[in-house]
Amino acid sequence: MVPIRRPLGSVLPRYVDEERRRAQIEARVGFGTALGRDSQQPFVELGQPRHVAGEERDLGNPGHVGTIRQVLSPAVENLVAQLSRLPGVGTRTAHRLAFHLLQRPKDEALALASAIEDVKERVRFCKECGNLTEEEVCAICRDARRDHTLICVVEQPVDLVSVERTSEFRGLYHVLGGALSPLDGVEPEHLRIDELLGRVERNGVQEVVLATNPNMTGEATAAYLADRLRGRVRVTRLASGLPVGGDLEYADEVTLGRALAGRREM
Ligand code: ZN
Repeated sequence: MVPIRRPLGSVLPRYVDEERRRAQIEARVGFGTALGRDSQQPFVELGQPRHVAGEERDLGNPGHVGTIRQVLSPAVENLVAQLSRLPGVGTRTAHRLAFHLLQRPKDEALALASAIEDVKERVRFCKECGNLTEEEVCAICRDARRDHTLICVVEQPVDLVSVERTSEFRGLYHVLGGALSPLDGVEPEHLRIDELLGRVERNGVQEVVLATNPNMTGEATAAYLADRLRGRVRVTRLASGLPVGGDLEYADEVTLGRALAGRREM
Protein backbone atom coordinates (compact mmCIF):
# COMPACT_ATOMS: atom_id res chain seq x y z
CA MET A 1 0.00 0.00 0.00
CA VAL A 2 1.50 3.27 -1.09
CA PRO A 3 0.87 5.94 1.55
CA ILE A 4 -1.31 8.84 0.43
CA ARG A 5 -0.10 12.38 0.96
CA ARG A 6 -2.54 15.17 1.53
CA PRO A 7 -1.72 18.76 2.48
CA LEU A 8 -1.75 19.03 6.28
CA GLY A 9 -4.41 21.72 6.29
CA SER A 10 -6.80 19.62 4.22
CA VAL A 11 -6.67 16.65 6.56
CA LEU A 12 -5.95 17.71 10.13
CA PRO A 13 -8.81 20.10 10.89
CA ARG A 14 -11.29 17.33 10.14
CA TYR A 15 -9.49 14.78 12.26
CA VAL A 16 -7.67 16.32 15.18
CA ASP A 17 -10.65 16.60 17.47
CA GLU A 18 -11.52 12.96 17.55
CA GLU A 19 -9.32 10.26 18.90
CA ARG A 20 -10.63 7.53 16.64
CA ARG A 21 -10.18 9.60 13.57
CA ARG A 22 -6.70 10.50 14.64
CA ALA A 23 -5.99 6.79 14.82
CA GLN A 24 -6.53 6.65 11.08
CA ILE A 25 -3.61 8.92 10.45
CA GLU A 26 -0.32 7.15 10.47
CA ALA A 27 2.23 9.07 12.45
CA ARG A 28 3.97 10.73 9.57
CA VAL A 29 4.25 14.46 9.07
CA GLY A 30 6.69 16.46 7.09
CA PHE A 31 7.27 19.13 4.55
CA GLY A 32 7.83 18.62 0.86
CA THR A 33 6.02 17.16 -2.06
CA ALA A 34 2.33 16.77 -1.53
CA LEU A 35 0.02 15.25 -4.11
CA GLY A 36 2.88 14.94 -6.54
CA ARG A 37 3.44 18.69 -6.75
CA ASP A 38 6.47 20.46 -5.44
CA SER A 39 5.32 22.43 -2.44
CA GLN A 40 6.64 23.42 0.97
CA GLN A 41 3.24 22.80 2.52
CA PRO A 42 3.23 20.59 5.60
CA PHE A 43 1.72 17.23 4.76
CA VAL A 44 0.37 14.21 6.49
CA GLU A 45 1.17 10.85 5.06
CA LEU A 46 -1.78 8.56 5.41
CA GLY A 47 -1.34 4.85 5.77
CA GLN A 48 -3.98 2.25 5.02
CA PRO A 49 -7.17 3.97 6.14
CA ARG A 50 -9.16 1.83 8.56
CA HIS A 51 -12.88 1.94 8.15
CA VAL A 52 -14.80 3.69 10.89
CA ALA A 53 -18.54 3.23 10.74
CA GLY A 54 -20.27 6.29 9.37
CA GLU A 55 -17.06 7.90 8.23
CA GLU A 56 -15.93 8.77 4.78
CA ARG A 57 -13.46 6.09 3.89
CA ASP A 58 -11.86 7.52 0.80
CA LEU A 59 -9.05 9.71 2.06
CA GLY A 60 -7.44 10.44 -1.26
CA ASN A 61 -6.79 9.28 -4.73
CA PRO A 62 -3.64 7.17 -4.94
CA GLY A 63 -3.49 7.93 -8.63
CA HIS A 64 -2.32 11.46 -7.84
CA VAL A 65 0.48 10.40 -5.57
CA GLY A 66 3.95 11.21 -6.81
CA THR A 67 7.32 9.94 -5.64
CA ILE A 68 7.18 9.35 -1.93
CA ARG A 69 10.03 9.41 0.54
CA GLN A 70 8.82 7.65 3.65
CA VAL A 71 10.63 9.86 6.13
CA LEU A 72 9.67 12.75 8.35
CA SER A 73 11.12 16.14 7.70
CA PRO A 74 14.41 16.36 9.63
CA ALA A 75 13.04 19.20 11.80
CA VAL A 76 9.95 17.23 12.80
CA GLU A 77 12.02 14.10 13.24
CA ASN A 78 14.26 16.02 15.62
CA LEU A 79 11.27 17.36 17.57
CA VAL A 80 9.86 13.85 17.91
CA ALA A 81 13.25 12.56 19.02
CA GLN A 82 13.55 15.30 21.66
CA LEU A 83 10.00 14.72 22.91
CA SER A 84 10.51 10.96 23.18
CA ARG A 85 13.35 11.60 25.61
CA LEU A 86 10.85 12.93 28.15
CA PRO A 87 9.85 10.47 30.89
CA GLY A 88 6.65 8.62 30.10
CA VAL A 89 6.57 9.76 26.48
CA GLY A 90 6.81 6.98 23.92
CA THR A 91 7.21 7.42 20.20
CA ARG A 92 3.48 7.46 19.59
CA THR A 93 2.85 10.21 22.14
CA ALA A 94 5.87 12.12 20.85
CA HIS A 95 4.38 12.07 17.37
CA ARG A 96 1.04 13.24 18.70
CA LEU A 97 2.66 16.10 20.61
CA ALA A 98 4.67 17.07 17.55
CA PHE A 99 1.47 17.09 15.44
CA HIS A 100 -0.16 19.25 18.07
CA LEU A 101 2.71 21.74 18.19
CA LEU A 102 2.72 21.95 14.39
CA GLN A 103 -0.91 22.93 14.39
CA ARG A 104 -0.80 25.49 17.19
CA PRO A 105 -0.12 29.16 16.42
CA LYS A 106 3.56 30.03 16.38
CA ASP A 107 3.29 32.20 19.54
CA GLU A 108 1.79 29.38 21.54
CA ALA A 109 4.42 26.84 20.50
CA LEU A 110 7.24 29.30 21.11
CA ALA A 111 5.86 30.07 24.59
CA LEU A 112 6.67 26.47 25.48
CA ALA A 113 10.16 26.80 24.06
CA SER A 114 10.78 30.01 25.98
CA ALA A 115 9.41 28.54 29.23
CA ILE A 116 11.97 25.75 28.93
CA GLU A 117 14.71 28.25 28.19
CA ASP A 118 13.64 30.37 31.18
CA VAL A 119 13.82 27.56 33.74
CA LYS A 120 17.15 26.38 32.39
CA GLU A 121 18.58 29.87 32.68
CA ARG A 122 17.02 31.10 35.91
CA VAL A 123 16.47 28.08 38.11
CA ARG A 124 19.30 26.73 40.19
CA PHE A 125 19.80 24.72 43.36
CA CYS A 126 19.44 26.40 46.75
CA LYS A 127 22.89 26.54 48.27
CA GLU A 128 21.53 25.48 51.65
CA CYS A 129 19.11 22.66 50.91
CA GLY A 130 19.44 21.79 47.21
CA ASN A 131 15.83 22.70 46.41
CA LEU A 132 15.11 24.48 43.13
CA THR A 133 15.07 28.27 43.35
CA GLU A 134 15.68 31.43 41.37
CA GLU A 135 17.53 33.03 44.29
CA GLU A 136 20.68 31.92 46.03
CA VAL A 137 18.68 30.55 48.97
CA CYS A 138 15.17 29.17 48.47
CA ALA A 139 11.99 30.59 50.02
CA ILE A 140 11.66 27.67 52.45
CA CYS A 141 15.17 28.16 53.86
CA ARG A 142 14.52 31.91 54.15
CA ASP A 143 11.20 31.47 55.95
CA ALA A 144 11.81 32.41 59.60
CA ARG A 145 8.44 30.95 60.68
CA ARG A 146 9.61 27.43 59.86
CA ASP A 147 11.33 25.20 62.39
CA HIS A 148 15.03 25.44 61.55
CA THR A 149 15.98 22.65 63.96
CA LEU A 150 14.13 20.03 61.92
CA ILE A 151 15.33 18.78 58.52
CA CYS A 152 13.48 16.42 56.22
CA VAL A 153 15.80 14.61 53.79
CA VAL A 154 14.32 13.77 50.38
CA GLU A 155 15.78 12.42 47.15
CA GLN A 156 14.44 14.95 44.65
CA PRO A 157 12.74 18.37 44.62
CA VAL A 158 9.54 16.64 43.49
CA ASP A 159 9.52 14.68 46.78
CA LEU A 160 9.80 17.96 48.67
CA VAL A 161 6.69 19.13 46.86
CA SER A 162 4.86 15.96 47.93
CA VAL A 163 5.80 16.39 51.60
CA GLU A 164 4.95 20.09 51.43
CA ARG A 165 1.50 19.25 50.05
CA THR A 166 0.63 17.37 53.23
CA SER A 167 0.92 20.63 55.26
CA GLU A 168 2.12 18.36 58.10
CA PHE A 169 5.75 19.42 58.04
CA ARG A 170 6.97 22.85 59.11
CA GLY A 171 10.70 22.24 59.19
CA LEU A 172 13.35 22.63 56.49
CA TYR A 173 14.37 20.21 53.78
CA HIS A 174 17.50 18.72 52.36
CA VAL A 175 17.42 17.46 48.78
CA LEU A 176 20.03 14.78 48.13
CA GLY A 177 19.72 14.77 44.36
CA GLY A 178 19.15 11.01 44.14
CA ALA A 179 19.66 7.81 46.08
CA LEU A 180 22.70 5.63 46.62
CA SER A 181 22.98 2.99 43.95
CA PRO A 182 26.50 1.60 43.52
CA LEU A 183 25.34 -0.53 40.57
CA ASP A 184 24.41 2.65 38.69
CA GLY A 185 27.55 4.37 39.86
CA VAL A 186 25.83 6.60 42.43
CA GLU A 187 28.14 6.79 45.44
CA PRO A 188 27.87 9.01 48.55
CA GLU A 189 30.08 11.69 47.00
CA HIS A 190 27.57 12.13 44.16
CA LEU A 191 24.80 13.14 46.58
CA ARG A 192 24.54 16.21 48.81
CA ILE A 193 25.47 14.20 51.90
CA ASP A 194 28.46 16.24 53.08
CA GLU A 195 26.30 19.35 52.84
CA LEU A 196 23.71 17.65 55.08
CA LEU A 197 26.34 16.74 57.68
CA GLY A 198 27.64 20.31 57.52
CA ARG A 199 24.17 21.72 58.14
CA VAL A 200 23.63 19.41 61.09
CA GLU A 201 26.97 20.47 62.60
CA ARG A 202 26.51 24.18 62.04
CA ASN A 203 22.89 25.00 62.50
CA GLY A 204 21.81 23.40 65.79
CA VAL A 205 19.60 20.84 64.07
CA GLN A 206 17.71 18.62 66.55
CA GLU A 207 16.13 16.05 64.26
CA VAL A 208 16.67 14.69 60.76
CA VAL A 209 13.69 12.94 59.18
CA LEU A 210 14.76 10.49 56.48
CA ALA A 211 12.11 10.64 53.78
CA THR A 212 13.91 8.79 50.98
CA ASN A 213 11.74 6.44 48.93
CA PRO A 214 10.73 3.13 50.52
CA ASN A 215 12.45 1.14 47.75
CA MET A 216 15.81 -0.61 47.63
CA THR A 217 17.97 2.42 46.84
CA GLY A 218 15.98 4.72 49.12
CA GLU A 219 16.26 2.29 52.04
CA ALA A 220 19.99 1.86 51.46
CA THR A 221 20.40 5.63 51.42
CA ALA A 222 18.41 6.00 54.64
CA ALA A 223 20.50 3.30 56.36
CA TYR A 224 23.72 4.97 55.21
CA LEU A 225 22.59 8.40 56.41
CA ALA A 226 21.38 7.02 59.75
CA ASP A 227 24.87 5.54 60.21
CA ARG A 228 26.62 8.80 59.38
CA LEU A 229 24.31 10.86 61.60
CA ARG A 230 24.24 8.51 64.59
CA GLY A 231 25.28 10.21 67.81
CA ARG A 232 25.10 13.68 66.29
CA VAL A 233 21.37 14.23 66.03
CA ARG A 234 18.04 12.46 66.46
CA VAL A 235 17.34 10.50 63.27
CA THR A 236 13.85 9.34 62.31
CA ARG A 237 12.47 7.54 59.26
CA LEU A 238 9.08 8.06 57.60
CA ALA A 239 6.67 5.32 58.63
CA SER A 240 5.67 2.77 56.02
CA GLY A 241 2.19 1.41 56.10
CA LEU A 242 -1.14 0.99 54.47
CA PRO A 243 -2.55 3.41 51.93
CA VAL A 244 -5.52 5.42 53.15
CA GLY A 245 -8.70 3.96 51.71
CA GLY A 246 -6.98 0.63 51.01
CA ASP A 247 -7.93 -2.89 52.10
CA LEU A 248 -5.80 -5.23 54.23
CA GLU A 249 -6.76 -7.98 51.83
CA TYR A 250 -4.81 -6.36 49.02
CA ALA A 251 -1.75 -5.24 50.97
CA ASP A 252 1.51 -7.07 50.24
CA GLU A 253 3.32 -8.82 53.10
CA VAL A 254 6.15 -6.30 53.35
CA THR A 255 3.81 -3.30 53.58
CA LEU A 256 1.50 -5.01 56.07
CA GLY A 257 4.51 -6.20 58.10
CA ARG A 258 5.88 -2.68 58.27
CA ALA A 259 2.49 -1.28 59.19
CA LEU A 260 2.36 -3.74 62.10
CA ALA A 261 5.90 -2.91 63.21
CA GLY A 262 5.13 0.80 63.04
CA ARG A 263 1.76 0.61 64.89
CA ARG A 264 1.02 3.38 67.35
CA GLU A 265 -1.15 4.09 70.39
CA MET A 266 -4.67 5.36 69.82
ZN1 ZN B 1 16.72 25.95 50.47
